[in-house]
Amino acid sequence: MAVSDHVDLPTFMEGVKKRNPYQPEFVQAVQEVAEDIFEFIEDKEEYHAQQILRRIAEPDRVVSFRVCWEDDNGNVRVQRGWRVQNNNAIGPYKGGIRFHPSVTESVLKFLAFEQTFKNALTGLPMGGGKGGSNFNPKGKSVREIMRFCQSFMTELYRHIGADIDVPAGDIGVGGREIGFMFGQYKRITNNFTGVLTGKGLEWGGSLIRTEATGYGAVYFLANMLATKGEDLVGKTAVISGSGNVATHAAEKIVQLGGKVLTLSDSGGFIHDPDGLDQEKINWVKSHKTHRRGRIEEYVEAFPNATFHAGKTPWGVPCYLALPCATQNELLGDDARTLIANGCKGVSEGANMPTDLDGVHVFKAAKILYAPGKASNAGGVAVSGLEMSQNSERRSWKEDELQQMLKDIMAGIHQSCLAYGDQGGGYIDYVKGANIAGFKKVADAMLAFGVV
Ligand code: GLU
Repeated sequence: MAVSDHVDLPTFMEGVKKRNPYQPEFVQAVQEVAEDIFEFIEDKEEYHAQQILRRIAEPDRVVSFRVCWEDDNGNVRVQRGWRVQNNNAIGPYKGGIRFHPSVTESVLKFLAFEQTFKNALTGLPMGGGKGGSNFNPKGKSVREIMRFCQSFMTELYRHIGADIDVPAGDIGVGGREIGFMFGQYKRITNNFTGVLTGKGLEWGGSLIRTEATGYGAVYFLANMLATKGEDLVGKTAVISGSGNVATHAAEKIVQLGGKVLTLSDSGGFIHDPDGLDQEKINWVKSHKTHRRGRIEEYVEAFPNATFHAGKTPWGVPCYLALPCATQNELLGDDARTLIANGCKGVSEGANMPTDLDGVHVFKAAKILYAPGKASNAGGVAVSGLEMSQNSERRSWKEDELQQMLKDIMAGIHQSCLAYGDQGGGYIDYVKGANIAGFKKVADAMLAFGVV
């Protein structure tokens, strides 16, 4: 009989580090999950014998390709493109596409790994994937972005499909870019199919997809607060980012009676002591999305606010914090500052915004802390609903979708409680999310044997 590979956590992580040199983000994401999973599978021999975690932490495939395009001055430009197909045990690969100069294989592998657990948590049949490029959309003309998207899709189209892998947006990829990529997919294949989500409403998109990630992160926060008999009314919130996730999280907090004090971008953060109302949020949406401006200009429009160049907003005293910008934007010391200032709830709108040190600080302080794979799952959940509508060839109504989003976020919260309740009123949402997501994928993998 074969001897099972029942290694301990440090030995497992040593192997992950050795097999993935120079991929710190990927190693970090695996470590955060493995810390909880090793405890959970301690007495579950089959997961060890079948090496389930080791298999989930090895993408099914990583497709890497060259993307050539021509800029407006006629120069030939060369970028790198990837699609990481991490795991399709419970459904087609599903996850966004990111265009940002910080994109590397490590970043996309961590995102695809996280996406696998997140998508499982939604309860919808979606596997995990992620793609992107180190292309920097900042300062590019619309025509340049179009040519880049077309070139990117000219390679990507052969690896995706409505029942194979369904990409969507992420940082640097919104409705406009999805449009350019969908147009090129259709042009190459002559196939009008639900191969991408985040589409425009006229061509197969779903209502509330744009709002879903930010709204979902606030619904999750409201569910967490309810376990303490609290709600959002009168609570102060510090938010980072000023894109789609951050502005919609701000909007929902305001709708539920909370007070949003900050937003940020790569240049720094704005602090508005009066709080952002819907008019100010609309200004930010149009300033960032249509005019592609800097958050710094907020203080010219609303002079009571201050701009803090080169800084993150975590030093502003608050009851709630929502990191909605990018990975590793909230470090251990930021977490310590938040706790010292009385922060009681953190809901991650971005993917892995808190570094490992910060995660350990929040866990030790036993505050309400939701990891992105639970709290930001609303976006991909509505993407899943978009896929269903595309298969049915019909569009659901807004109030139906709003209710489905709320129900899905409440369901994820329940799953976290099922595996994260530590007794004494403390819920470890990181542990709950990791175990609930893992279990679903792992049990499907067990059914398939060694493949
Ligand atoms: N990029 C989003 C995420 O991180 C959405 C992915 C999708 O809708 O497929 O979950």
